[in-house]
Amino acid sequence: MVINVLMTISGVVLVARERNGQLTGTGRRIGDLDRSLLLQCRTSQVTQLAGVTGRAGVGLVLTAERGNLRGCLDRARHLLEVDHHRAPLLLDAARYAGDGRLTAAAPFDQRWIQYQRELGLPVLTDSGYLAPDDMEGLVGILERAARLGDAIALLPMHPAWLADRYARQTLLRYVTALGVPIAIVLEEPVEPVEPVELVDPVDPVGAVRGLLQLLDCGVPVLVLRSDLPGLGALGSGATAVAIGTEPGLRRFDPRRPAGSLPTGALPPLRPARPSALIRHCLSYQPLAVIEATMRRHPDNGMWHCGCPTCGGRDLNWLVSREAGRDGVVLQHCVDVLLDLRTELTGPSVQLNQWSWRARCAAAASRRREVGWDRLPMLDHWQQAITPPTSSRTGAASSRRTGGGTRFSRTAPPRSAA
Ligand SMILES: [Zn+2]
Repeated sequence: MVINVLMTISGVVLVARERNGQLTGTGRRIGDLDRSLLLQCRTSQVTQLAGVTGRAGVGLVLTAERGNLRGCLDRARHLLEVDHHRAPLLLDAARYAGDGRLTAAAPFDQRWIQYQRELGLPVLTDSGYLAPDDMEGLVGILERAARLGDAIALLPMHPAWLADRYARQTLLRYVTALGVPIAIVLEEPVEPVEPVELVDPVDPVGAVRGLLQLLDCGVPVLVLRSDLPGLGALGSGATAVAIGTEPGLRRFDPRRPAGSLPTGALPPLRPARPSALIRHCLSYQPLAVIEATMRRHPDNGMWHCGCPTCGGRDLNWLVSREAGRDGVVLQHCVDVLLDLRTELTGPSVQLNQWSWRARCAAAASRRREVGWDRLPMLDHWQQAITPPTSSRTGAASSRRTGGGTRFSRTAPPRSAA
């Protein structure tokens, strides 16, 4: 039996579906955000995204560049008042990133909070970085966000908060107790540093499992600054995910030792190697790499693209094009993301997860075929999601509220790639 339940938490109306007394993890929304796909971009990239932000289902996360909160707010105001942007819009102060990053104990900037309200936007806190074991920092961010009454608590955190059992239980306990919607930004695991490891290595599969638990905790969860795995989170009940428009916005790097290059904060804008999304591989690849691989494997079926922008052509038309290429490459990428979002956000979280698991297996196989590097995340998600058995498949299918046979088209192989 499915019951729609209306709850008001911190001034935010939540629509949750209750099935047999348990929240299903679907149907949680905040304002316009409802399983939304957001593009996380720099403040300075908004103009070039104008061609795609008018599409249904696409929103934006503007990321402040190098601490310039004023510039981010001004660009948002222009976007709303002059460009009449009507799609979902969030602002990320990114004060958690870079060598000068703030810690979770840092107070929120009240002007940042107030300006978002004045612009009529969801209020996203400008939280500092939540280090492993920083219990006070976690509680501080959540309590201060709760006191604001209308905020989404930004939790830019070390992955141990999800991977470590005790830390995860603590996180879940406080998030559910305070009931404040959260937006997580997950730091990349720290690479081993000699001679002394200050932090225990993170189990990446455990981190994915922890993420799935968090997404099922009954409180709205957004995942920001993500790469393609954001789609797995979206299918698992995330209220929205933001996928970066460039590599630096598709990940949150750990702080490097003193003397090395700064990371985390956005570096000065310079032309990155143009990349396109390869749907079958669930990854962005530089156009030059795509071109070279297409020459070596011309008959591999994954070069054909049926997205509205490509219209059934193979990707040669993007690779070989010079004038205006960036615009159509971006449109192709957004088309593919939207298509995947549609396919991965059905009413049954379990079927969505199995579909995502199957895609991860297929993508790993495709990458091997053409000699591309293994993507560890493809393995981690496959291991974190329990595969279906024949009896469970039948039970899950019978619970599905929508029509169609999406799962039957994408039934995953039993063995991990
Ligand atoms: Zn395409």
